[in-house]
Amino acid sequence: MYKEKIDTYIDGKREEMLADLSALVRIDSQKSEAKEGMPYGEGPAKVLAAGTAIMEKYGLTVKNYGNRVITGDFGEGEKELDILAHLDIVPVTEDWTVTQPFEPKIVGDRIYGRGTADDKGPAIAALYAIRAIKELGLPLKKSVRLILGSDEECGSSDLKYYYGIEKEAPYSFTPDADFPLINIEKGRFAKSFEAAYADNEQFPKVVMLKSGSKVNVVPQKAEAVVAGIEKDILEKAAAHASVETGVEFIIEECSGPVYADSEEAVSGKETEKKDQAGRTGAEQADAVVYCIIHAKGQAAHASTPADGKNALTAMLHLLAALPIADSEGYRRLKGLHTMFPYADTCGEALGIRCSEPQSGELTMCFSVLDYTPEKLRGEFDSRLPIGCNATNTSEPVGRMFESYGMKIADTDVSNPHCVPGDSFFVKTLLGSFERYTGIKGEPLSTGGGTYVHNLERGVAFGCMMPDVDNHMHGDDEFMVIDTLLMSAKIFADAIMKICG
Ligand SMILES: [Zn+2]
Repeated sequence: MYKEKIDTYIDGKREEMLADLSALVRIDSQKSEAKEGMPYGEGPAKVLAAGTAIMEKYGLTVKNYGNRVITGDFGEGEKELDILAHLDIVPVTEDWTVTQPFEPKIVGDRIYGRGTADDKGPAIAALYAIRAIKELGLPLKKSVRLILGSDEECGSSDLKYYYGIEKEAPYSFTPDADFPLINIEKGRFAKSFEAAYADNEQFPKVVMLKSGSKVNVVPQKAEAVVAGIEKDILEKAAAHASVETGVEFIIEECSGPVYADSEEAVSGKETEKKDQAGRTGAEQADAVVYCIIHAKGQAAHASTPADGKNALTAMLHLLAALPIADSEGYRRLKGLHTMFPYADTCGEALGIRCSEPQSGELTMCFSVLDYTPEKLRGEFDSRLPIGCNATNTSEPVGRMFESYGMKIADTDVSNPHCVPGDSFFVKTLLGSFERYTGIKGEPLSTGGGTYVHNLERGVAFGCMMPDVDNHMHGDDEFMVIDTLLMSAKIFADAIMKICG
């Protein structure tokens, strides 16, 4: 049986694996400015060169695709399996304590460093799985390809380029997520929208609203400036809104409208103050009272919006209840409140609520808004269960936005992804996982998207074990060394079953 041979081989390569991984971790492979022949900048090009050297050292046939992706092939027959990992990394965070991000360090049973878990470690595990089969001389009828990309963290344009040239293999997996295996990924409908309109002189009015900065995060804070309503009246309304939403509001009088054109507006460093009539700050202050409203909720990932408290939709909830004078801008704010009422995190008011047993419920997160009396721009992020497409989600939502005088950028959606849980491929991979872990391998569904989202027959397989938090994207990212070795064995076992 090959299992014992593979196990002995991998166990014997522990030091070499850690050395190869460390060589990759020492390279700062964050995306940076493009240079000639380096579409993602110097770091990604450097790490691809290092990856090439390692694969060639172990006798794989290496090919470079535009310095975006490198591939390493092994085996004689037709290509049956692609394994996709990536060598680029997310930006470094500030508070590392065990070591520095590019100084890999082994402490106890772990190796620390940026990319040890995401995704340089898993890339090395896959490479050693292939190396084991090759050096042990185990027979494969079909061939396997390791695909190493360098733009996973910034939109996966590397794979777009690669699959513009090459066809999808009969089977693909990416060790860039969780064990046991993810076979279902929700689709995504994330858009920006905007509108421009005429201001008017009517008070009371909302002169500024700003909330959120990232489309995939439930906004924790929102700030709005209201003119022409006394502070004590705002406080009463805010107290109601707070009970209804669970979001806290703090209200302060301020000296004038702070337009949200500038980032300084919300941070309090007011650079320029003017009102719509061009009056000076002192004149406005005499004419009308201005208050700034701070809303504080709770952030969460946009794929699980019910876990957060959305400060933006809570702010709209409050503003919609105030005696504000009619205006083009305020009508649009009320339209947004109608489409994204607080606590509706499933697209019900937008008329697209739906769910499906395997992939769950549609989620909707209104994540960014920047409003002035003359224009607005916003973003939202919706995750779509199986069965959703542009016709039943983005198109009706686009029409509803238009009915309120706003326009979404376009109606493209990324469709949901599903490889059947009872397919040969999924069952085979889960079998290899069970063989090494003794844990029952049930396939998982995610609201996020993995590296193989756009592949018809791709699944995510490893390397994060349930119940281990590897601090991916955070400080002190690490990989458990035994998990790295075990992953290599699991992958070798899977390759033997799929290509053998
Ligand atoms: Zn990754």
